[in-house]
Amino acid sequence: MNKMESWLPINGDSDFSIYNLPYGIFSVNNGKRKAGIAIGNQIVDLASCAEKGWIDVSADYFKKDTLNDFIRLGKKITNQLRLDVQSLLVSKESPLKNHPNILVDQADATMHLPVHVGDYTDFYSSIEHATNVGTMFRDPDKALMPNWKHLPVGYHGRASSIIVSGTPIKRPKGQVVPKGTEVPIFQPSGRLDFELEMAFIVGKDTEIGSSVTTKDALDHIFGMVLFNDWSARDIQKWEYVPLGPFLGKSFASSTSPWIVTIEALEHFKVPGPVQNPKVLPYLQYQGDMNYDINLSVGISPKGKSEKIISNSNFRYMYWNMAQQLAHHTVNGCNVKVGDMMASGTISGPTKSSYGSLLELTWGGKNSIEFDDHTHRTFIEDGDCVTLRGHAEKNGIRVGFGEVTSEVFS
Ligand code: CA
Repeated sequence: MNKMESWLPINGDSDFSIYNLPYGIFSVNNGKRKAGIAIGNQIVDLASCAEKGWIDVSADYFKKDTLNDFIRLGKKITNQLRLDVQSLLVSKESPLKNHPNILVDQADATMHLPVHVGDYTDFYSSIEHATNVGTMFRDPDKALMPNWKHLPVGYHGRASSIIVSGTPIKRPKGQVVPKGTEVPIFQPSGRLDFELEMAFIVGKDTEIGSSVTTKDALDHIFGMVLFNDWSARDIQKWEYVPLGPFLGKSFASSTSPWIVTIEALEHFKVPGPVQNPKVLPYLQYQGDMNYDINLSVGISPKGKSEKIISNSNFRYMYWNMAQQLAHHTVNGCNVKVGDMMASGTISGPTKSSYGSLLELTWGGKNSIEFDDHTHRTFIEDGDCVTLRGHAEKNGIRVGFGEVTSEVFS
């Protein structure tokens, strides 16, 4: 990748470098929502750039509540726009230099859900996570179900409760079966957990009856976000047989506000794990399809300093996004612009890289100690959970910022 530099001062450790330029929806002072591109600690107001005639897309597309209509213009246009904004931020003669009001301080902006999410699918694609959960709840020798290495297991999640970073999470209530009993009682979840995930956002509508190949899949993916797929383990444990996750999952999932494009992540591709047994032809793929993205999870108890409790990486995924999308559509299921498809909990091979408290505390058996000498097995009221992620190679950094949420009752 060619080195470049913006005339705008950007910290070396900023996730939003000149190579990134992610898309988001923001507002200032409760004003109208608008589309922007993040750069350093600023936002480029795209509607204003369009009105000045500096970019070649109508300002109307940037004055909407979501990015769906803009994304639907297609990658030829959305990629070019990103490159045009890059030029505006690099060129010494950039007209943007003389219009500082077109750059908005991120500290002054409120971020919103960047897309209307029509459908949300959650996969289960980390072999370490699936093995850990299978070991805890079933036979350690048969931790993976017989289908697991043959297809990317997933389920249809709830789109209406996807919320943007910063939105507080109300502790869910539901049916739980107290230990040593067989009869459920109704109470607030006592085993509230996060799930460290990433999600991709579909960038192209498909027709019902058609399928996306692994070869074409990245053309159908607009970009990615960090994703916290909140889970109430006690509710989940009682309800999930035989049809799978329901109220233990559907109360909330939190997303980071900036969509990092697939093109900005190209530089960080790495080989995925060897898949053995060999997968069916429609799941086979060419080239590197995993991404080296460092991920972390921090928890701050109310008013206390944060403790980083997990460091993982998106590269560990057994099933990649191309395979997930090919599998999702192989039966002719259509997908729409704005649909979100989450990876499943991203656990790594070591204990410090597990992507949920369920695994980090091994089902609540081992507690985590915080600086104030309090202990956690699951999330307490007032806890703030923050996921962060960034890729870095040869001094080039492309990051996602964070998704952070406080839990209350
Ligand atoms: Ca999940």
